[in-house]
Amino acid sequence: RAKSAGGNRAELADPEADARAITRHGLTTALPTALERGEFFIEYQPLVHLGDGSVRGAEALVRWLHPQHGVLGPDRFIPLAEHTGLIVPLGRWVLEESIRQARAWRERHGGQCGPLRINVNLSPCQLGHPGLVQDTVEILERAGVTPDALCLEVTESALIGADDDLLKPLRRLAEMGVDIALDDFGTGYSNLANLRRLPVSILKLDRSFTQGMQRFPADPVDLKIVEGIVSLAHSLDLAVTVEGVETGAQAEQLRILGCDTAQGWYYARPGPPERLHDLTLVDATG
Ligand code: C2E
Ligand code: MG
Ligand code: MG
Ligand code: MG
Repeated sequence: RAKSAGGNRAELADPEADARAITRHGLTTALPTALERGEFFIEYQPLVHLGDGSVRGAEALVRWLHPQHGVLGPDRFIPLAEHTGLIVPLGRWVLEESIRQARAWRERHGGQCGPLRINVNLSPCQLGHPGLVQDTVEILERAGVTPDALCLEVTESALIGADDDLLKPLRRLAEMGVDIALDDFGTGYSNLANLRRLPVSILKLDRSFTQGMQRFPADPVDLKIVEGIVSLAHSLDLAVTVEGVETGAQAEQLRILGCDTAQGWYYARPGPPERLHDLTLVDATG
């Protein structure tokens, strides 16, 4: 009976799916007011140079402090925001807020600790939005921050099969000095030769590779794969960042393999911006 009544009826027959749908629906309708009310906030996770352990920058990760459900991670609401288009104003807010933060860090350090960069995630919808380049330029200018302080992270899957129209804004930004990183690299069905076509300067190796380095010494096949990616990346003048480093053994293994920068719980969990003020240099060499 449920089946013949169509998709909606079939869902009502499953109370759990129904509850999920209600939450999804509730969250979706609450998104616009959440942005107006300032319920979103950003946590920052440091990016650490594997060679000398210095903090080179941080990735901005958005969260939603929902009045009823508490803190929600991006996996709960980014897909909904993408679906409704709210990702465009939300993404613009994230960019503006994190650039403002980058400026505050730079001022605080008086340029003494090298450039502190901010990594901001970009969803495919933002990439296709005509205002992207102009918004970014304006936000940087308003904050008095140079483009080299910004790295935009785009997932590999967002760029697979991307035509030139989609790549054009990224090229423009790259020409201005904004770095483009290919996020979650290695999870899609990427055509490695395709890399040359993309205006990226950084590969962010997905956490699944880092997981293979859990034990020391790591699985030799995992080592070979990462070694191959690193050597290909470096031969194309791309830097390699690794995500999800949770142990010192992983950090050491990835450093030996030639990865440039690392990010993960071993160094710091994502946290409030003040956390980066006093972050001491981590000895990443073991
Ligand atoms: P991502 O860009 O790949 O971000 C890395 C994710 O790995 C973050 O999850 C981070 O908290 C988590 N992580 C960091 N270190 C470790 C570790 O050592 N171990 C483990 N197990 N996890 C670690 P988070 O914050 O839940 O973000 C999930 C995804 O949501 C991000 O993946 C990104 O794709 C997306 N996202 C976050 N903020 C934004 C945003 O402002 N805009 C857009 N479009 N997407 C965002
Ligand atoms: Mg990212
Ligand atoms: Mg990533
Ligand atoms: Mg990832």
